[in-house]
Amino acid sequence: MGEFDLIAHYFARPARPGTGLALGVGDDCALLAPAPGMQLAVSTDMLVEGRHFLSTVDPARLGHKALAVNLSDLAAAGAKPLAFTLALSLPAVDEAWLAGFARGLFALADAHGCQVAGGDTTKGPLNICITVFGEVPAGAALLRSGARPGDDVWVSGTLGDARLALEIFRGTLDAPAEVFAAARARMEQPTPRVALGQALRGVATSAVDISDGLVGDLGHILRASGVGATLDADAATDLIAARAGGTGAAALFDPQTWRTLALAGGDDYELAFTAPADRRAAVEAAGRASATPVARIGRIEAEAGLRIVDRAGRPVDQRFASFDHFG
Ligand code: ADP
Ligand code: MG
Repeated sequence: MGEFDLIAHYFARPARPGTGLALGVGDDCALLAPAPGMQLAVSTDMLVEGRHFLSTVDPARLGHKALAVNLSDLAAAGAKPLAFTLALSLPAVDEAWLAGFARGLFALADAHGCQVAGGDTTKGPLNICITVFGEVPAGAALLRSGARPGDDVWVSGTLGDARLALEIFRGTLDAPAEVFAAARARMEQPTPRVALGQALRGVATSAVDISDGLVGDLGHILRASGVGATLDADAATDLIAARAGGTGAAALFDPQTWRTLALAGGDDYELAFTAPADRRAAVEAAGRASATPVARIGRIEAEAGLRIVDRAGRPVDQRFASFDHFG
C-alpha cells in the first residue's frame, strides 16, 4: 500500500456540506469557513513514541489521545471544534495499526463534530502531529490572563490518575489490577472537556488545560494574570478517582504520594479555571449543563506566587515540580 492509497483508505473523508469545513482532504489546501463574527482558535500538539506514549499502546487508544490532547486546548479556550489536520510519520505501513488508530481517532472526532481537513504522511519514526481548528465568538475566548484577586480556582473532573498509571508502568508505585486498569484508561483515553469550556464562556475569567500538572499549569494562569493563589491540596487530592469511593484505596499510598499525584500529576486534560466568587452558581450550572463535575480548590490573591495549604489552612511543606521536557 502506497502513500496515497493509505491516505485514501484510512484518512480521506469528505467534508460535510454546510459545516465550518468548506473543503477537506484532497487538494493543496483545506478551506475553513468559520461562521460570521467568529474567531478561529488554533492549536497543535505532537505525540512522539517513547516520549508521550509507549510503543505497546493500543492504536485505537493512541488515535483517541492524539486528538483528545488537541481538543483539550480548544476546550480551555472555550472554542467549538471544527476541523483538524493530521501529520503522520510512520516507520512502516502496518494496516492493523492504521485501522485501529483511525478507529479511535474518528470515534472521538465524530463525537465532537470535528472533521479531518487534511494532513501529511511520511516515512520515519512514529510521530503524530495534529492541529485543531475551532471557532469562538470574537472576544469571548477564555485566556490565561484574566484571573483577578478574589476569584475562586476551580478544576473539572478528576486529577492524578494518569500519573498514577505512569508510575505503575515505571514500577515506582504498585496497585491492585483494577486500580491500575482504571488509571490506565485515564492516561490512555483522556476526556477533553469541550462542552464545559464552551459553557464557561462569559463565566470563567481564565482557563488552562492540565497537561503538565495542576501546579505547573495553574502557574501559567498566575503569571499571565499577574496574580497569586492559595490552593487547598486536600481538596485537590479528593479528586483522584483511584483514591475515592470508600474502597480502602486511600490506604494504598502515603498522603505525600497522593498529593504529588493530584498536584503535579500531568496528562489529566482537565480544565483549571477561575471565576468570580459571586458566579459560583453559574459555574455549577455550566458543570451540570455539560455533565462535567467541577470542584472549587482555591482562591486567587493579589500577592504573587502559589501557596499550598491543607484543609485546615496550614501550609503544606512539599515541593511539586511540573513536567518539563527539557528540565
Ligand atoms: P501535498 O503534496 O500538496 O502536501 P499530499 O500529497 O501530501 O499533498 O496530500 C494529499 C492530500 O491528502 C492533501 O489534501 C492532504 O491534506 C491529505 N493528507 C495527506 N496525509 C494525510 C493524513 N495523514 N491525514 C489526512 N489527510 C492527509
Ligand atoms: Mg504533503
